[in-house]
Amino acid sequence: MGYCNMSDVMSDRGVQWVVADPVEKNVFWPSEALKKKANVSDPKIYEIASKDPVAFWDNLAKEGITWFKPWTETYSWNPSIPVYKWFVNGKLNISYNALDRHLDTWKRNKAAMIWVPEPLNEQCRVMTYYDLYREVNKFANVLKSLGVKKGDRVGIYLPMIPEVQIAMLACTRIGAAHSVVFSAFSGEALKTRLIDAEAKVLITADGYYYRGKGVNLKANADLGIEGTSVKNVIVVKRLGTNVNFVSGRDLWWNELMEKADAKCAPEEMDSEDLNFILYTSGSTGKPKGVEHHVGGYAVQAYWTTKWAFDIHDEDIYWCTADVGWVTGHTYNCYGPFMNGATIVVYEGAVDYPAPDRWWKIIEEHGVTIFYTAPTAIRMLMKLGDELPKKHDLTSLRLIATVGEPINEEAWLWYFRVIGGGRCPIIDTWWQTETGGTLIHSLPGIGPYIPSVAGRPIPGIRFSILTEEGKPTEIGEGGYLVQNSPFNPGLIRTIWKDPDKFKETYWSVYGGNIYYTSDGGFVYDKLGDIRLTGRVDDVMKVAGHRVSTAEIENAITQHPAIVECAVVAAPHEIKGEAPVAFIILKSGYSYTPELEAELRKYIDKMIGPIARPEKYVLIEDLPKTRSGKIMRRILKSLIKNAPVGDITTLQNPESVQAIKERVGYKEPA
Ligand code: AMP
Repeated sequence: MGYCNMSDVMSDRGVQWVVADPVEKNVFWPSEALKKKANVSDPKIYEIASKDPVAFWDNLAKEGITWFKPWTETYSWNPSIPVYKWFVNGKLNISYNALDRHLDTWKRNKAAMIWVPEPLNEQCRVMTYYDLYREVNKFANVLKSLGVKKGDRVGIYLPMIPEVQIAMLACTRIGAAHSVVFSAFSGEALKTRLIDAEAKVLITADGYYYRGKGVNLKANADLGIEGTSVKNVIVVKRLGTNVNFVSGRDLWWNELMEKADAKCAPEEMDSEDLNFILYTSGSTGKPKGVEHHVGGYAVQAYWTTKWAFDIHDEDIYWCTADVGWVTGHTYNCYGPFMNGATIVVYEGAVDYPAPDRWWKIIEEHGVTIFYTAPTAIRMLMKLGDELPKKHDLTSLRLIATVGEPINEEAWLWYFRVIGGGRCPIIDTWWQTETGGTLIHSLPGIGPYIPSVAGRPIPGIRFSILTEEGKPTEIGEGGYLVQNSPFNPGLIRTIWKDPDKFKETYWSVYGGNIYYTSDGGFVYDKLGDIRLTGRVDDVMKVAGHRVSTAEIENAITQHPAIVECAVVAAPHEIKGEAPVAFIILKSGYSYTPELEAELRKYIDKMIGPIARPEKYVLIEDLPKTRSGKIMRRILKSLIKNAPVGDITTLQNPESVQAIKERVGYKEPA
């Protein structure tokens, strides 16, 4: 008979994974324990990769992904269009890689997903890889029975319930491209995206729980499909409430699944076939359908999950991002499932029923890897140390962030209070367009420095350029760009808008250089990068990407508004928050009723995440002689920063008037 020593049980608990730099304050490195455990701990990986990045990715693609047929060319690139392809003519299926290939291994019975409902009186749902495989196969057959074929588009408008990952994997199993729309977006926002994608089917739910209340998602979905090409709406019964149901068009998920066969052969997809479309905000009012293709995306999702989060078989990994955003696609579905990881998915609000809900989930499920956004960290930090201290968080061994720059204070709180001063923080920089993480320290190599993301991952080439296109010196601010060979998961084009694709990413420095629209600087000799935020008219509001133009479009629909300009103002918790400068038509005055109406317009056209923090009533907007609104000046005014030269404006006097309105004080 064997005896077990209790201290051996979960021996990773409470281990010191990092050590402080002996000289530099607040710089940390992996401890020997982490170096020993980590998937990557030899810094030579950077050198090897940079010698021949194409050969490097070629090897990774062979090692990480199961292909039905090998590729004939690893990377091809024509900068004049520009077009770049990875693993040309290779054949694969991403759902096969996420599910089938685990079935002949012990992982068949491993938990793929632990789903945590918001109400405390409901049971968690645990699905093994085999369970998930069966559900995905069944749902793939459901989609087929409704006439969905390879190349078709399927809209997904679901909350954080297991059906969302099942639906995504089922689409990719049969080669249909999904377009997931964030469930907190409005019906109008859904409609714009469904029309653009020409979706055949929409998958939604009767609702979901948020802060203890049932939210009727179906009502929004009904609005969203009006006037679109959607033939059928599949509805998941989450709340069991009475919702509008159009017979013939609307179908219950559970009824369709009851009859569906649990075997559906995965479609053989070309590496450059469309995997999914994800709409994101740009500088114009119209969201852009970012196209991700199968092969390159799969390779990058697989490896970056392994690298950034140092995923191991025994880990319990929790990424708090909603699947409506790219982080949810890559790190709440494809990346972890292709790695055979166990993920936690939580349905509800961070503070329900109490603001320690997240810490309770970490404790109860023994979460070892935790990935969230700086905005959430700042919000939880404000509530103090007592709430996390009520819970045993020693299961954590790696904590990570994404979505916006993290300030030093929030980083240090996260490090000290949540990570117990033991866990590395991996600050991952990336975008909807890049498909996977690109700039961050590797856990087994380090360093981890507050508000510094780290080096570009191996096999990737980034530079920071001046406006004239010259490389910057250490500490000198500039524009973040990527050089070829581009990361395998990079956007291939904008759905139905190749001109926009060219204009947005390839017009600033030409077709050879991918322009990120982010600013930053090289922080140290190692090449670690510190990101400083967007340099275009895109904001990150509580980590959500929102365009100023979209908000302006919504506001100017109101009959009282003549003109408006929206800019991002710094916000203590959200990072940035929209402020709207509005000009009213004569006869209208600014009242609480008008503000409530404007809020309704925003909620209707976009969703509550885009609500301005403040409206500033003005008579005139600063404009160039060609009539362009100078948002840069408005931004400075709201931040109380130097305004710069205004002599070239058509109406310099407008600036003085706004200064008075916002209480601007000339910087000393
Ligand atoms: P999204 O496409 O919604 O993922 O937003 C991408 C943008 O978020 C980037 O262009 C950056 O401005 C910002 N971002 C994402 N991650 C980070 C990070 N770790 N540090 C700084 N900014 C980030």
